[in-house]
Amino acid sequence: ALMVGRSVRRRRGWRRVVRVLEELEEGCATPVGRLRQVVDAMAVEMHAGLASEGGSKLKMLLTYVHNLPTGNEKGIYYALDLGGTNFRVLRVRLGGQRSAIIEHDVDRQPIPQHLMTSTSEELFDFIATSLNDFVEREENVSKPSQKERRELGFTFSFPVKQISSSSGTLIKWTKGFSVEDMVGKDVSQCLQQAMSRKGMDMRVTALINDTVGTLALGHYHDEDTVAAVIFGTGTNACYLERADAIIKSQGLLTTTGGMVVNMEWGNFWSSHLPRTSYDVDLDAESPNPNDQGFEKMISGMYLGDIVRRVILQMSQESDVFGPVSSKLDEPFILRTPLIAAMHEDDSPNLNEVARILKETLKIPDVPLNVRKLVVKVCDVVTCRAARLAAAGIVGILKKIGRDGSGGIASVKTRNGIHNKMRRTVVAVEGGLYTNYTMFREYLNEAMGQILGEDVAPYVIIKVTEDGSGIGAALLAASHSASEVVDSV
Ligand code: BGC
Ligand code: MG
Repeated sequence: ALMVGRSVRRRRGWRRVVRVLEELEEGCATPVGRLRQVVDAMAVEMHAGLASEGGSKLKMLLTYVHNLPTGNEKGIYYALDLGGTNFRVLRVRLGGQRSAIIEHDVDRQPIPQHLMTSTSEELFDFIATSLNDFVEREENVSKPSQKERRELGFTFSFPVKQISSSSGTLIKWTKGFSVEDMVGKDVSQCLQQAMSRKGMDMRVTALINDTVGTLALGHYHDEDTVAAVIFGTGTNACYLERADAIIKSQGLLTTTGGMVVNMEWGNFWSSHLPRTSYDVDLDAESPNPNDQGFEKMISGMYLGDIVRRVILQMSQESDVFGPVSSKLDEPFILRTPLIAAMHEDDSPNLNEVARILKETLKIPDVPLNVRKLVVKVCDVVTCRAARLAAAGIVGILKKIGRDGSGGIASVKTRNGIHNKMRRTVVAVEGGLYTNYTMFREYLNEAMGQILGEDVAPYVIIKVTEDGSGIGAALLAASHSASEVVDSV
């Protein structure tokens, strides 16, 4: 009787778990029709965000970057990259020719956890100290030819209201940072002050978002690059916009050309986004509820935690994972690299899945069908993220008329009229895209589905290498030449 009772319970448990999975699949479904709705919503919100300040959840921030690097940049520049997880210092030598080898040295370290919630002074003292140590080390090996004031590009990957191309105030924190006294402060000034406390003679000539650095480097290598997207701890995009389309700044912008716009698309929202109860809970329990809704469905900081929440639900509703592990209650314990490793486990017995369940979540040995279930959960969550990301990219292309919807025939070029579309390159960076093969493949597949086979070949997603570092140095170089125009 005991045996029968147990096996019945097991089966019931299994059935419940399958139901949880089916509900998840339904909730996360992203058929092409729905992706097209997201594309349209993205383009509409872009218009709204450009029309007026606060006109959309998309901030569409001005960058005052009018000119992307030409390839003629020359000299030695430093760059700082404060992103989500790591902090880096670089020294870049620009050769003056696009094809010239760019030498660069890097010092990279994880951002100490306590600094993410400390004071702005502590955070910036840490940054200035690391920078100072790096500069001293570097210049011991290679003495600068003349004692010029060093110039610095600062990549600060959070929403900033730019005052010029080299200064701006922090609008809000994302990605788990919360240095409260910093909000509203001038980011470059904070750095400049910390540097003078250390007696350093350095000048911030560019303050940029990581997307802008990526666009700069992408454009440096390939002039057809019109947008850049980051899929890392957080997610965001920027693109080159016509000045006259930035309606909210009319009268302010004297340029006739274009300007890079930092979309801050992590905060995009639309009723067409497939939202589940796991997303609702994750948001409510996050340090920034009601904020960064798109980012919370897509980026590396959150994907693992969505998966954790689903496994927790399954474990609570059944006994297929044994007694509910207390680790399943710990936010962010399941990092996205771990779900990538489980998702891509190609051993016949899914040994990697078993190892991660055991070591990270303290869930002892589970049978193969349960391991497969976990892989499926990773698949559903990551597939949704990648497909929504693709829809976001096509939304940008639509806004700038590069999605092929205006027809692909008869494009006038220097050499006459051609029946083809212009080549469009989107620069991409971030560990989620470069390290998580399934995310990358789902994203590219969805791009093809949304754009269709006639248009898709003209849209190229290109991974740049370290745009958020080298791009800052490139912009520091091009701004230091054109600063007079910029600071008007
Ligand atoms: C920030 C953006 C940044 C993105 C990628 C987001 O959380 O708001 O400014 O570009 O992460 O690092
Ligand atoms: Mg980064």
